[in-house]
Amino acid sequence: MNEFELIRRHFTRVAPSAELGVGDDAAIVRPTPGCEMHVSVDMLVENRHFFAGMDPAALGHKTLAVNLSDMAAMGATPRWVVLALALPEINPAWAAGFAEGFFGLAQRFGVDLIGGDTTRGPLALSVTIMGEAPAGEALRRTAAKAGDDIWVSGTLGEAALALAVRLGQIGDVPEDVLAACTTRLERPEPRVMLGLALRGIAHAAIDVSDGLLADLGHIAAASGIGAEIELTALPTHPWLDLRRENHAALIAAGGDDYELCFTAPASARQILSMISQALALPLSRIGCMTHGAGVRLLGCGGREHVLNKKGYDHFDQA
Ligand code: ADP
Ligand code: MG
Repeated sequence: MNEFELIRRHFTRVAPSAELGVGDDAAIVRPTPGCEMHVSVDMLVENRHFFAGMDPAALGHKTLAVNLSDMAAMGATPRWVVLALALPEINPAWAAGFAEGFFGLAQRFGVDLIGGDTTRGPLALSVTIMGEAPAGEALRRTAAKAGDDIWVSGTLGEAALALAVRLGQIGDVPEDVLAACTTRLERPEPRVMLGLALRGIAHAAIDVSDGLLADLGHIAAASGIGAEIELTALPTHPWLDLRRENHAALIAAGGDDYELCFTAPASARQILSMISQALALPLSRIGCMTHGAGVRLLGCGGREHVLNKKGYDHFDQA
Protein backbone atom coordinates (compact mmCIF):
# COMPACT_ATOMS: atom_id res chain seq x y z
CA MET A 1 0.00 0.00 0.00
CA ASN A 2 1.35 3.45 -0.85
CA GLU A 3 0.51 6.88 0.52
CA PHE A 4 -2.33 7.50 -1.95
CA GLU A 5 -3.98 4.15 -1.24
CA LEU A 6 -3.70 4.81 2.46
CA ILE A 7 -5.47 8.16 2.07
CA ARG A 8 -8.11 6.72 -0.24
CA ARG A 9 -8.82 3.69 1.94
CA HIS A 10 -8.75 5.29 5.40
CA PHE A 11 -9.09 9.04 5.15
CA THR A 12 -11.48 9.66 2.27
CA ARG A 13 -15.10 9.91 3.35
CA VAL A 14 -18.01 11.80 1.93
CA ALA A 15 -18.05 15.31 3.33
CA PRO A 16 -21.66 16.43 2.91
CA SER A 17 -21.01 19.86 4.45
CA ALA A 18 -18.25 20.79 1.97
CA GLU A 19 -18.50 21.95 -1.63
CA LEU A 20 -15.37 19.88 -2.31
CA GLY A 21 -13.65 17.44 0.05
CA VAL A 22 -10.57 15.19 -0.13
CA GLY A 23 -9.06 14.66 -3.58
CA ASP A 24 -8.21 18.00 -5.15
CA ASP A 25 -5.46 20.50 -4.44
CA ALA A 26 -7.67 22.24 -1.91
CA ALA A 27 -11.06 21.74 -0.32
CA ILE A 28 -13.89 24.23 -0.74
CA VAL A 29 -16.34 25.18 1.98
CA ARG A 30 -19.13 27.71 2.07
CA PRO A 31 -19.37 29.59 5.37
CA THR A 32 -22.86 30.18 6.77
CA PRO A 33 -23.98 33.76 6.03
CA GLY A 34 -23.82 35.92 9.14
CA CYS A 35 -21.28 33.68 10.84
CA GLU A 36 -17.63 34.23 11.57
CA MET A 37 -15.14 31.46 10.85
CA HIS A 38 -13.06 30.18 13.77
CA VAL A 39 -9.77 28.47 12.87
CA SER A 40 -7.44 26.59 15.19
CA VAL A 41 -4.61 24.07 14.87
CA ASP A 42 -3.18 21.58 17.36
CA MET A 43 -0.29 19.17 17.05
CA LEU A 44 0.29 15.89 18.89
CA VAL A 45 3.82 14.48 18.84
CA GLU A 46 4.77 10.96 19.94
CA ASN A 47 6.62 10.79 23.28
CA ARG A 48 5.73 14.43 23.90
CA HIS A 49 1.92 14.41 23.92
CA PHE A 50 1.31 10.67 24.01
CA PHE A 51 3.23 7.48 24.79
CA ALA A 52 4.64 5.38 21.96
CA GLY A 53 2.37 2.43 21.32
CA MET A 54 -0.82 4.25 22.34
CA ASP A 55 -3.95 2.53 21.04
CA PRO A 56 -4.47 4.06 17.57
CA ALA A 57 -8.24 4.41 18.01
CA ALA A 58 -7.74 6.36 21.24
CA LEU A 59 -5.12 8.46 19.49
CA GLY A 60 -7.49 9.18 16.60
CA HIS A 61 -10.14 10.22 19.10
CA LYS A 62 -7.79 12.46 21.07
CA THR A 63 -6.27 14.09 17.99
CA LEU A 64 -9.70 15.39 17.03
CA ALA A 65 -11.00 15.91 20.58
CA VAL A 66 -8.36 18.51 21.47
CA ASN A 67 -9.38 20.55 18.43
CA LEU A 68 -13.11 20.22 19.11
CA SER A 69 -12.33 21.43 22.61
CA ASP A 70 -10.87 24.65 21.19
CA MET A 71 -14.08 25.26 19.23
CA ALA A 72 -16.09 24.56 22.39
CA ALA A 73 -14.04 27.15 24.27
CA MET A 74 -14.95 29.74 21.62
CA GLY A 75 -18.63 28.83 21.59
CA ALA A 76 -18.22 27.83 17.94
CA THR A 77 -19.96 25.04 16.03
CA PRO A 78 -17.20 22.76 14.69
CA ARG A 79 -17.64 22.19 10.94
CA TRP A 80 -14.55 21.11 8.99
CA VAL A 81 -11.13 19.60 9.71
CA VAL A 82 -7.94 18.91 7.76
CA LEU A 83 -5.49 16.32 9.05
CA ALA A 84 -1.70 16.33 8.65
CA LEU A 85 0.01 13.04 9.42
CA ALA A 86 3.70 12.21 9.76
CA LEU A 87 3.94 8.41 9.86
CA PRO A 88 7.11 6.33 10.35
CA GLU A 89 5.69 3.62 8.07
CA ILE A 90 2.55 2.67 6.17
CA ASN A 91 0.69 0.46 8.64
CA PRO A 92 -2.87 -0.29 7.44
CA ALA A 93 -4.00 -1.78 10.78
CA TRP A 94 -2.79 1.31 12.62
CA ALA A 95 -4.44 3.61 10.08
CA ALA A 96 -7.73 1.71 10.35
CA GLY A 97 -7.68 2.02 14.13
CA PHE A 98 -6.79 5.69 14.01
CA ALA A 99 -9.54 6.39 11.47
CA GLU A 100 -12.09 4.52 13.61
CA GLY A 101 -11.39 6.74 16.63
CA PHE A 102 -11.14 9.90 14.55
CA PHE A 103 -14.30 9.45 12.47
CA GLY A 104 -16.27 8.05 15.40
CA LEU A 105 -15.89 11.37 17.18
CA ALA A 106 -16.22 13.43 13.98
CA GLN A 107 -19.59 11.85 13.22
CA ARG A 108 -20.91 12.53 16.70
CA PHE A 109 -20.31 16.24 16.17
CA GLY A 110 -21.17 16.45 12.47
CA VAL A 111 -17.63 17.42 11.51
CA ASP A 112 -16.28 16.53 8.05
CA LEU A 113 -12.66 15.72 7.17
CA ILE A 114 -12.05 17.68 3.97
CA GLY A 115 -8.32 17.29 3.34
CA GLY A 116 -4.89 16.86 4.77
CA ASP A 117 -1.31 15.96 4.11
CA THR A 118 0.57 12.71 4.65
CA THR A 119 4.31 12.32 4.90
CA ARG A 120 6.91 9.91 6.27
CA GLY A 121 8.47 10.97 9.57
CA PRO A 122 8.43 10.50 13.34
CA LEU A 123 4.80 9.95 14.39
CA ALA A 124 3.06 13.31 14.65
CA LEU A 125 -0.54 14.36 14.03
CA SER A 126 -1.92 17.78 13.41
CA VAL A 127 -5.51 18.83 12.89
CA THR A 128 -6.66 22.22 11.70
CA ILE A 129 -10.27 22.80 12.58
CA MET A 130 -12.74 25.35 11.26
CA GLY A 131 -15.90 26.28 13.10
CA GLU A 132 -18.55 28.95 13.00
CA ALA A 133 -20.46 31.23 15.31
CA PRO A 134 -22.79 34.15 14.63
CA ALA A 135 -20.72 37.32 14.19
CA GLY A 136 -19.76 38.88 17.50
CA GLU A 137 -20.88 35.97 19.69
CA ALA A 138 -17.56 34.21 20.25
CA LEU A 139 -16.47 33.57 23.86
CA ARG A 140 -13.21 35.49 24.00
CA ARG A 141 -10.57 35.30 26.71
CA THR A 142 -10.56 39.08 26.93
CA ALA A 143 -14.21 39.39 27.95
CA ALA A 144 -14.13 38.51 31.68
CA LYS A 145 -15.28 41.23 34.08
CA ALA A 146 -14.36 41.86 37.72
CA GLY A 147 -17.12 40.36 39.86
CA ASP A 148 -17.89 37.54 37.40
CA ASP A 149 -18.38 34.08 38.84
CA ILE A 150 -15.81 31.54 37.67
CA TRP A 151 -17.18 28.16 36.64
CA VAL A 152 -15.68 24.88 35.53
CA SER A 153 -17.42 21.90 33.91
CA GLY A 154 -17.07 18.24 34.87
CA THR A 155 -14.14 17.17 37.01
CA LEU A 156 -10.46 18.10 37.14
CA GLY A 157 -7.29 16.14 37.81
CA GLU A 158 -8.30 12.72 36.52
CA ALA A 159 -6.26 12.77 33.32
CA ALA A 160 -3.30 14.16 35.25
CA LEU A 161 -3.64 11.34 37.78
CA ALA A 162 -3.49 8.72 35.02
CA LEU A 163 -0.41 10.44 33.60
CA ALA A 164 1.26 10.65 37.02
CA VAL A 165 0.71 6.90 37.49
CA ARG A 166 2.21 6.19 34.06
CA LEU A 167 5.22 8.31 34.98
CA GLY A 168 5.63 6.49 38.29
CA GLN A 169 4.99 9.64 40.33
CA ILE A 170 1.96 8.26 42.19
CA GLY A 171 1.30 4.66 43.22
CA ASP A 172 -1.44 2.70 44.98
CA VAL A 173 -4.28 3.95 42.80
CA PRO A 174 -7.16 1.42 42.78
CA GLU A 175 -7.59 -0.29 39.43
CA ASP A 176 -11.11 1.00 38.72
CA VAL A 177 -10.06 4.57 39.54
CA LEU A 178 -7.06 4.27 37.26
CA ALA A 179 -9.19 2.85 34.43
CA ALA A 180 -11.64 5.76 34.64
CA CYS A 181 -8.79 8.29 34.76
CA THR A 182 -6.99 6.66 31.82
CA THR A 183 -10.16 7.07 29.77
CA ARG A 184 -10.14 10.76 30.65
CA LEU A 185 -6.51 10.99 29.51
CA GLU A 186 -6.86 9.00 26.30
CA ARG A 187 -10.42 9.78 25.21
CA PRO A 188 -11.27 13.26 26.44
CA GLU A 189 -14.85 14.38 25.83
CA PRO A 190 -14.86 17.82 24.21
CA ARG A 191 -17.53 20.06 25.77
CA VAL A 192 -18.93 21.25 22.45
CA MET A 193 -22.60 21.39 23.53
CA LEU A 194 -21.68 23.36 26.63
CA GLY A 195 -19.68 25.86 24.58
CA LEU A 196 -22.67 26.45 22.30
CA ALA A 197 -25.05 26.78 25.26
CA LEU A 198 -22.78 29.40 26.82
CA ARG A 199 -23.06 31.82 23.89
CA GLY A 200 -24.75 34.97 25.08
CA ILE A 201 -24.51 33.80 28.72
CA ALA A 202 -20.83 33.47 29.60
CA HIS A 203 -18.40 36.35 29.25
CA ALA A 204 -15.05 34.57 28.71
CA ALA A 205 -14.15 30.91 28.28
CA ILE A 206 -11.12 28.69 27.85
CA ASP A 207 -10.60 24.95 27.69
CA VAL A 208 -8.49 23.48 30.48
CA SER A 209 -5.64 21.75 28.66
CA ASP A 210 -2.54 22.97 30.52
CA GLY A 211 -4.03 23.04 34.03
CA LEU A 212 -6.76 25.17 35.60
CA LEU A 213 -4.47 27.77 37.22
CA ALA A 214 -2.49 28.34 34.04
CA ASP A 215 -5.53 28.47 31.77
CA LEU A 216 -7.59 30.68 34.07
CA GLY A 217 -4.45 32.84 34.25
CA HIS A 218 -4.78 33.38 30.48
CA ILE A 219 -8.35 34.68 30.93
CA ALA A 220 -7.25 36.96 33.79
CA ALA A 221 -4.26 38.36 31.87
CA ALA A 222 -6.20 38.81 28.62
CA SER A 223 -9.02 40.56 30.47
CA GLY A 224 -6.61 42.72 32.50
CA ILE A 225 -8.03 41.61 35.87
CA GLY A 226 -7.43 38.95 38.54
CA ALA A 227 -9.08 35.75 39.72
CA GLU A 228 -9.59 34.03 43.05
CA ILE A 229 -10.57 30.40 43.27
CA GLU A 230 -11.26 28.17 46.24
CA LEU A 231 -9.40 24.92 46.44
CA THR A 232 -12.25 23.15 48.23
CA ALA A 233 -14.71 24.16 45.49
CA LEU A 234 -12.76 22.37 42.73
CA PRO A 235 -14.68 19.36 41.36
CA THR A 236 -12.68 16.16 41.12
CA HIS A 237 -12.77 12.37 41.36
CA PRO A 238 -13.83 11.21 44.85
CA TRP A 239 -10.60 9.22 45.21
CA LEU A 240 -8.53 12.39 44.92
CA ASP A 241 -8.11 14.26 48.20
CA LEU A 242 -7.76 18.04 48.02
CA ARG A 243 -6.03 18.08 51.42
CA ARG A 244 -3.05 16.19 49.99
CA GLU A 245 -0.57 18.51 48.34
CA ASN A 246 0.24 16.27 45.38
CA HIS A 247 -3.44 15.63 44.71
CA ALA A 248 -4.26 19.34 44.93
CA ALA A 249 -1.53 19.96 42.33
CA LEU A 250 -3.08 17.41 39.95
CA ILE A 251 -6.50 19.02 40.34
CA ALA A 252 -5.55 22.70 40.17
CA ALA A 253 -2.54 22.47 37.87
CA GLY A 254 -2.61 19.10 36.09
CA GLY A 255 -3.33 19.17 32.38
CA ASP A 256 -5.40 17.35 29.77
CA ASP A 257 -8.78 17.84 31.47
CA TYR A 258 -10.44 19.42 28.41
CA GLU A 259 -13.16 20.85 30.61
CA LEU A 260 -14.37 24.41 30.03
CA CYS A 261 -13.52 27.14 32.50
CA PHE A 262 -15.68 30.23 32.00
CA THR A 263 -16.80 33.41 33.67
CA ALA A 264 -20.35 34.72 33.88
CA PRO A 265 -22.25 37.37 35.84
CA ALA A 266 -24.03 36.24 39.01
CA SER A 267 -27.33 36.86 37.21
CA ALA A 268 -26.60 33.80 35.05
CA ARG A 269 -26.54 31.30 37.95
CA GLN A 270 -30.06 30.03 37.43
CA ILE A 271 -29.79 29.51 33.69
CA LEU A 272 -26.41 27.82 34.17
CA SER A 273 -27.99 25.34 36.54
CA MET A 274 -30.62 24.63 33.88
CA ILE A 275 -27.91 24.15 31.24
CA SER A 276 -26.07 21.80 33.59
CA GLN A 277 -29.21 19.70 34.01
CA ALA A 278 -30.08 19.70 30.32
CA LEU A 279 -26.58 18.53 29.38
CA ALA A 280 -26.25 16.17 32.37
CA LEU A 281 -22.90 17.85 32.98
CA PRO A 282 -21.95 19.21 36.41
CA LEU A 283 -21.00 22.90 36.47
CA SER A 284 -19.16 24.08 39.58
CA ARG A 285 -18.79 27.66 40.75
CA ILE A 286 -15.19 27.85 41.92
CA GLY A 287 -14.45 31.53 42.53
CA CYS A 288 -14.72 35.01 41.12
CA MET A 289 -12.86 37.50 38.97
CA THR A 290 -11.35 40.40 40.93
CA HIS A 291 -9.92 43.86 40.34
CA GLY A 292 -6.43 42.46 41.07
CA ALA A 293 -4.03 40.62 38.79
CA GLY A 294 -3.07 36.97 38.45
CA VAL A 295 -4.81 33.91 39.91
CA ARG A 296 -4.97 33.35 43.66
CA LEU A 297 -5.81 29.88 44.93
CA LEU A 298 -7.44 30.07 48.37
CA GLY A 299 -7.16 27.19 50.81
CA CYS A 300 -8.48 26.69 54.33
CA GLY A 301 -9.67 29.85 56.13
CA GLY A 302 -9.31 31.91 52.96
CA ARG A 303 -5.51 31.83 53.15
CA GLU A 304 -3.62 31.73 49.87
CA HIS A 305 -2.51 28.24 48.95
CA VAL A 306 0.70 28.24 46.91
CA LEU A 307 1.39 25.29 44.63
CA ASN A 308 4.91 24.88 43.30
CA LYS A 309 3.68 24.01 39.81
CA LYS A 310 1.07 26.12 38.02
CA GLY A 311 0.62 24.22 34.78
CA TYR A 312 2.25 22.42 31.93
CA ASP A 313 4.75 24.25 29.76
CA HIS A 314 6.51 22.39 26.95
CA PHE A 315 9.60 24.54 27.24
CA ASP A 316 9.80 24.43 31.03
CA GLN A 317 13.05 22.65 31.95
CA ALA A 318 12.14 22.25 35.63
P1 ADP B 1 -0.94 17.77 -2.98
O1 ADP B 1 0.28 17.15 -3.55
O2 ADP B 1 -1.78 18.55 -3.95
O3 ADP B 1 -0.68 18.47 -1.68
P2 ADP B 1 -1.59 15.35 -1.66
O4 ADP B 1 -1.03 14.24 -2.43
O5 ADP B 1 -0.83 15.83 -0.47
O6 ADP B 1 -1.91 16.55 -2.63
O7 ADP B 1 -3.06 14.98 -1.20
C1 ADP B 1 -4.00 14.52 -2.12
C2 ADP B 1 -5.37 14.73 -1.55
O8 ADP B 1 -5.51 13.92 -0.38
C3 ADP B 1 -5.65 16.17 -1.14
O9 ADP B 1 -6.98 16.47 -1.42
C4 ADP B 1 -5.41 16.15 0.35
O10 ADP B 1 -6.19 17.11 1.01
C5 ADP B 1 -5.82 14.74 0.73
N1 ADP B 1 -5.10 14.20 1.89
C6 ADP B 1 -3.78 13.96 2.01
N2 ADP B 1 -3.48 13.46 3.21
C7 ADP B 1 -4.65 13.40 3.89
C8 ADP B 1 -5.03 12.99 5.20
N3 ADP B 1 -4.14 12.53 6.09
N4 ADP B 1 -6.32 13.06 5.53
C9 ADP B 1 -7.24 13.54 4.66
N5 ADP B 1 -6.96 13.92 3.42
C10 ADP B 1 -5.69 13.86 3.03
MG1 MG C 1 0.06 17.62 0.14
